[in-house]
Amino acid sequence: MADWIPATVIDNRHWNNNLFSLVLEANIEPFKAGQFTKLALDIDGKRVQRAYSFVNPPEENRVEIYATRVADGLLSPRLHALDSGDEVLITARANGFFTLDEVPDAQVLWMIASGTAIGPYLSILREKQVWRRFRKVVLIHAVRYAADLSYQGEINELKAHYPDQLIVQPFVSREPVPGALNGRITYALTDGLLERMVGVPLDAENSHVMICGNPEMVKETKSLLEARGLKKHLRREPGQITMEHYW
Ligand SMILES: Cc1cc2nc3c(=O)[nH]c(=O)nc-3n(C[C@H](O)[C@H](O)[C@H](O)COP(=O)(O)OP(=O)(O)OC[C@H]3O[C@@H](n4cnc5c(N)ncnc54)[C@H](O)[C@@H]3O)c2cc1C
Repeated sequence: MADWIPATVIDNRHWNNNLFSLVLEANIEPFKAGQFTKLALDIDGKRVQRAYSFVNPPEENRVEIYATRVADGLLSPRLHALDSGDEVLITARANGFFTLDEVPDAQVLWMIASGTAIGPYLSILREKQVWRRFRKVVLIHAVRYAADLSYQGEINELKAHYPDQLIVQPFVSREPVPGALNGRITYALTDGLLERMVGVPLDAENSHVMICGNPEMVKETKSLLEARGLKKHLRREPGQITMEHYW
């Protein structure tokens, strides 16, 4: 049974028609960057719960989640409609293993996200550990439209803080955008364009790759990496790929 506690909505930032960030005040237990919580609402007498990654780093008191309103979705349209002062249920305890303590050391940490899956990386990147452990961090964010590239302020702040360590490469699939690669991550990986653009090789010797978001993207990216000799990381059998599927 989940340990549900109330959370008060402090802010609901709408980035565009569908993407939103909920800021919540809730007395949750400590969590690790990269983990997720569960939010729930009682709808027609039934508790509807879904998983959401923390965007805030653990030392920040307010919980922040970044989500999209799924057309015909059961919970996300209702979360999207919440206002300051409204209440939602949250689990006191966090879940998940998409955290740096499950990632072995490497020279380069690749963080690949589609859509709202940029969230857990923003939590991890705003802690010190990642900057101590990896020489370079490559953050890749794949979206459909330029307007879906949320959190640019936070990302630019990180770039300013870690200019020699952080490389950010957005992908925008449905329109040309200066500075972003057009198309899909998987194509850019296949023909080497991604590595040419970021100037860092992606190989089994020096890299660890975290992949999060759309399950098709996660699966296809994993297959391409396996073809290069990388393999899924397990505690009992170290590898170079760590994944989280959002559905
Ligand atoms: C570990 C974990 C962490 C997650 N973290 C987040 C998060 O931080 N932000 C977030 O928005 N979602 C996240 N999700 C997905 C989230 O739990 C819900 O599935 C999502 O909000 C849809 O719920 P719903 O009830 O509105 O839709 P449902 O009625 O449950 O419909 C589910 C369908 O919605 C679509 N969908 C689900 N999630 C997304 C998404 N993120 N982007 C695009 N389409 C989607 C898929 O087609 C899926 O089949 C996470 C899921 C998991 C398993």
